[in-house]
Amino acid sequence: LDPISENYVRRNVKNAIFSRVKPTKLQGQIFLAGISPSALDLIDLDPSVILDTKFQEFASGSWIHPSSFPLAHRYGGYQFGWWAEQLGDGRAHLLGHYVNRNGSWWELQLKGSGKTPYSRDGDGRAVVRSSVREFLAAEYMDALGFRTSRCASIVVGDELALRDQFYNGNLEMEKTAVVLRLSPTWFRFGSLEILSKKNELENLRFLVDHIIAKHFKSISTEHPDRYLSFLSTVVEDTAEMIAQWQSIGFAHGVMNTDNMSILSLTIDYGPFGFMDAYNPSFVPNSSDDDGMYSYKNQPKIGFSNIRKLSEALQPLLMPYQMGQIKNILAGYDHHFQLAYLKQFSKKLGLKSLSLQDGIIVNRLLEMMADNKADFTMTFWELGNITLGDLENKKVPKGFWALKKIVKDKRFPEFIQLYKTKLQEDGITENSRQSLMTANNPRYVLRNWIAQQTIEEVERGNYSALEEVLGILRNPFIFQKAAEGKGFANSPPVWSTSLKVSCSS
Ligand code: AMP
Ligand code: MG
Ligand code: MG
Repeated sequence: LDPISENYVRRNVKNAIFSRVKPTKLQGQIFLAGISPSALDLIDLDPSVILDTKFQEFASGSWIHPSSFPLAHRYGGYQFGWWAEQLGDGRAHLLGHYVNRNGSWWELQLKGSGKTPYSRDGDGRAVVRSSVREFLAAEYMDALGFRTSRCASIVVGDELALRDQFYNGNLEMEKTAVVLRLSPTWFRFGSLEILSKKNELENLRFLVDHIIAKHFKSISTEHPDRYLSFLSTVVEDTAEMIAQWQSIGFAHGVMNTDNMSILSLTIDYGPFGFMDAYNPSFVPNSSDDDGMYSYKNQPKIGFSNIRKLSEALQPLLMPYQMGQIKNILAGYDHHFQLAYLKQFSKKLGLKSLSLQDGIIVNRLLEMMADNKADFTMTFWELGNITLGDLENKKVPKGFWALKKIVKDKRFPEFIQLYKTKLQEDGITENSRQSLMTANNPRYVLRNWIAQQTIEEVERGNYSALEEVLGILRNPFIFQKAAEGKGFANSPPVWSTSLKVSCSS
């Protein structure tokens, strides 16, 4: 713990993992704009908390629970490939942990709750725009069953913050919000990196041992190879997380090492995007000029981030263990390929896909890219049409994505490969369709949906947020309300000009 007690003067912190600092109350009126019942359930709360003004105060940082000891975490990170020195929770406060009725450990963190020693030039706030995006995205990712942190609530305030939304020099005042986030831990690759870079090896060992004891229960805390086992678990889990992202057309947007959770959960949803038309070069973050964090680059960026993590761990290893690092890192590609094929085999209604079968996925994706077919709807429609109709290119009315690829000259070859594989695996048409329906969402948090919801929340229409969350929490189920809003339609023309950036 940083010996300087309770103040948020920005500073270079040394020899510490946390600084003690209290949230700063949002000025003016506050309003509990949204809750996620399933996230609240993780901390044994039910939706009736919306009636409790104390909860609203708690979830915005204006009232601190007597048992809570608010902290800001010190971390560093590689941002866009460069070591950025001290970063840390510049606008987030860890309130503490809660062990729920099932014995699960959840760490409660506020984001947008004011300045900390790590705020640098920032104001410690988060705008409604980015808070609504994070809230919806995290809860959607969880509804898909994917690795993610959670958002339990969002409180909107009157307080305004100045932001340059599009990085074009145009500053505007925007409404602010505080999100209550949940994760088993908020430690990141950057949490270890800063300790290693600053040669604070006692703290480094302490923190890694703590993380292993608390969150990697299958690794023995006494074992001399525990740091290697830890690394290889992170390698596998990160490969799995990124395979999940790829399978849903998700690009995180800012894969800096400070945004890589040590538990390989998706964290720090900022300028992310779920793509509409499939484009491997998709870059959601308009501030990412070189497309470093494009969709197609994510697997290899995951690898370079893991390598950075391994560098941070090196001071803890004995000379004879150093050679092992290379082998562990070499496993990343293999784990990623397996996880990727596992995801796509489910998306295609198959039992499994071998490396050689990867050609089936590649053929399909090539056609989707060249014909700008919608990522989400192509898979959904493939799972809701019979193989016979597919072969005859008889696309039902209203199937707007598949239409684009059936006319491609590679289509018959794809169908042939696909059919052969289905026959080999002995998959009936019924089971193909039901597996696909269970694994390909009909609804996705498209940029235009997020934008429309943000505008409603800024106007004070919080029921819009509840409705969209309700739809996204059941993304595989056909919903009248969602259909009525055009959520499964081709995105509106106005949405093509939407941009998101690091400004948040
Ligand atoms: P991000 O790019 O969102 O992952 O943030 C990188 C770093 O900037 C983290 O240390 C954040 O806490 C910090 N940061 C971002 N926005 C603000 C803000 N408005 N006030 C203070 N710190 C911020
Ligand atoms: Mg971050
Ligand atoms: Mg962020």
